[in-house]
Amino acid sequence: MTMITCVSPVNGEVYAERPALSLDAAKDVVARARKAQKDWARRPLEDRVQLVLKGAARLNEMADLVVPELAWQMGRPIKYGGEYRGFNERSNYVASIAADALSPMVVEDSANFSRRIEREPHGVVFVIAPWNYPYMTAINTVAPALMAGNTVILKHASQTLLVGERLVQAFVEAGVPADVFQNVYLDHETTSALIAAGSFNFVNFTGSVEGGRSIERAAAGTFTNLGLELGGKDPGYVMEDADLEAAVDTLMDGATYNSGQCCCGIERIYVHESLYDAFVEKSVAWVSNYKLGNPLDPETTLGPMAHKRFAKVVREQIADAVAKGAKALVDPKLFPADDGGAYLAPQVLVDVNHSMAFMREETFGPAVGIMKVKSDAEALELMNDSPYGLTASLWTKDAERASRIGRDIETGTVFMNRADYLDPALCWTGVKETGRGGSLSVMGFHNLTRPKSYHLKKVTA
Ligand code: NAP
Repeated sequence: MTMITCVSPVNGEVYAERPALSLDAAKDVVARARKAQKDWARRPLEDRVQLVLKGAARLNEMADLVVPELAWQMGRPIKYGGEYRGFNERSNYVASIAADALSPMVVEDSANFSRRIEREPHGVVFVIAPWNYPYMTAINTVAPALMAGNTVILKHASQTLLVGERLVQAFVEAGVPADVFQNVYLDHETTSALIAAGSFNFVNFTGSVEGGRSIERAAAGTFTNLGLELGGKDPGYVMEDADLEAAVDTLMDGATYNSGQCCCGIERIYVHESLYDAFVEKSVAWVSNYKLGNPLDPETTLGPMAHKRFAKVVREQIADAVAKGAKALVDPKLFPADDGGAYLAPQVLVDVNHSMAFMREETFGPAVGIMKVKSDAEALELMNDSPYGLTASLWTKDAERASRIGRDIETGTVFMNRADYLDPALCWTGVKETGRGGSLSVMGFHNLTRPKSYHLKKVTA
């Protein structure tokens, strides 16, 4: 029997383990979801919306369990109180727009004709979630998918294997029928086999580019609808008229919060030459204030990375960049908890360039590179010199200029004077190797349903 194991970054020991389902057992789960779907979809929309909100509320009541459990599984300091703010904001927002987003588009309603496009749930939706924001990334699809009348099967990351269990526990305790929202433990092979067998009507995968490729390969030829929310290497660009303090504060937080393990974390910063020296100096001071340590200690502001293999990638990228001429400006002695393993000190690199993996590949750690630029054209070229495109953060007082530059950036979201935030009213989407599709907003609902056209002629004469 294959076991799915979570090794805690806190102490390197096994924290939780569950047996993976066999392919036959997993097919039974899918069959139950399919059987339950029609009844679920027949319920009034408002009932489904309220049940999802009750599930979210129930999860809030479980904070004393969920918050330390999250620290053990992936290292998020308990000081931050889990992910409730974003989790609630997203659940409440999608609930508030569900009726509008799912309402029919009426083309004609006359004595002779009723012509309209209705939104119909896909059927069974499969959600494959990552460990970095395990509750927030899952709820982006789980909440609107259930509200729209789909049944949902959730496969969470091994690193956060208890998260799926807690979500389903909360929703079922709140009254969502057990077969409508199910949690599964699956290895990669069984996951792919289920998709390849055409088990699902929609698969939402959030994770790495390599993982996304495997899912796309598994789905090939089945015509399964796919949402792929993959990696990023998000840039910040600080123009000469930027508010320097605000730029440092937001961009360094965006680069290092959650130990830099954010899909839309800031990984590279381009600063106009007039602000460059001051920006670098303030950024180094900013990150030096972190307290790296055990995430269960209420004083800790920077926890370990989720696994020592993720920290190894960051250490290797930094070492490679330094060997090629980059300068590391943060003194590691300020962070005695850095153990060469999962506990990793934050770092700021200068004298970097795009020949270094550190400036091109996803780092996904609390380290950022800063480069000096002379013009918008130079910044634009550097921002677009990337295989990814999730968000870009522009710092200026001129919204017109930001919009103009934004139009030329190959990205899913353009921010001005903010970063590293998912606005549930806007479509969360990416380009290039960041994937395809879109979640949240009205478009998230549209992607979790299919259009169905009604062309009704009322009179035959
Ligand atoms: P990951 O290793 O790709 O895993 C993501 C999920 O997919 C996990 O549940 C994982 O299961 C599963 N998985 C991975 N490869 C698979 C395969 N070949 N077949 C079946 N299932 C597979 O990614 P991660 O390390 O958890 O997450 C970090 C990545 O996610 C980063 O690249 C980050 O940028 C990206 N991300 C993107 C967004 C976005 O909105 N664009 C949001 C959050 C994260 P196991 O854990 O059991 O391997």
